[in-house]
Amino acid sequence: MSSSSETAATQATWTPDRPIVSIHGVHKRFGDFEVLRGVTFDVMKGDVVCVIGPSGSGKSTLLRCINALVPIDEGSIQVAGQEVHDPKLDKLALRKKVGMVFQQYNLFPHKTALQNVMMAPIQVLKQDKAEVRERALKLMKKVRLNGKEDAYPGELSGGQQQRVAIARSLAMNPDVMLFDEVTAALDPETVKEVLVTIRDLAEEGMTCMLVTHEMGFAREIADMMYFTDNGVIVESGPPKEFFANPRDARTKEFLGQIL
Ligand code: ADP
Ligand code: MG
Repeated sequence: MSSSSETAATQATWTPDRPIVSIHGVHKRFGDFEVLRGVTFDVMKGDVVCVIGPSGSGKSTLLRCINALVPIDEGSIQVAGQEVHDPKLDKLALRKKVGMVFQQYNLFPHKTALQNVMMAPIQVLKQDKAEVRERALKLMKKVRLNGKEDAYPGELSGGQQQRVAIARSLAMNPDVMLFDEVTAALDPETVKEVLVTIRDLAEEGMTCMLVTHEMGFAREIADMMYFTDNGVIVESGPPKEFFANPRDARTKEFLGQIL
């Protein structure tokens, strides 16, 4: 990234009246198999969006496309005004904007919780260690894990480890957080503490996109629900309407199975 034209191409022109995430006509194929078949929707800053749908319908792929973990074949995805799949885009800049938390938290086992949270800002962003530490301590508090700073992942419950993973993502100071079934692998008794953490974030105004099977939580927290089937969004709406009165037969069937 040295020439001035490249720099210009990576600079965001975003204002709060525009969507923070804008997904337009996205297609994604793996070989002959089209996983996403034209996905379009916008997310405004501070909104919480929940994506639900049957297994294999493309939910994880969609999140991975937003984070540029996988390339798209057609369409566009903008985050804070920046075209995510622009080959000239500084991928590091994008990693800073979009945080992602997975079902598997993958903490570094030989680092303490606090060290896990501090690692990326120091190693990737080359930020000052003392400042990063200060921020990491605050983040541990935010995810309600103060007192566990020096614990190793193996000494923490699944829910606690997942909250460290959330804090680690927040340490990059993202504009948007993506959560891909982050409670799916947890023991039931620790699911709630992770959902409470996500709710705290949402209430503070963090833009969140969640793929989840926690329908009660989605109903409580979401501004918008999206139902995906077979690579397309077949239904969307505010949760009240969405759950009380689903229109599409596939949404009805899906909700009927899990509610
Ligand atoms: P969901 O999260 O809704 O369960 P995914 O996005 O994980 O769905 O997967 C959608 C489909 O794409 C599945 O059939 C899956 O097997 C396929 N798929 C996902 N990732 C890859 C990949 N890297 N290579 C080939 N096929 C993939
Ligand atoms: Mg998935």
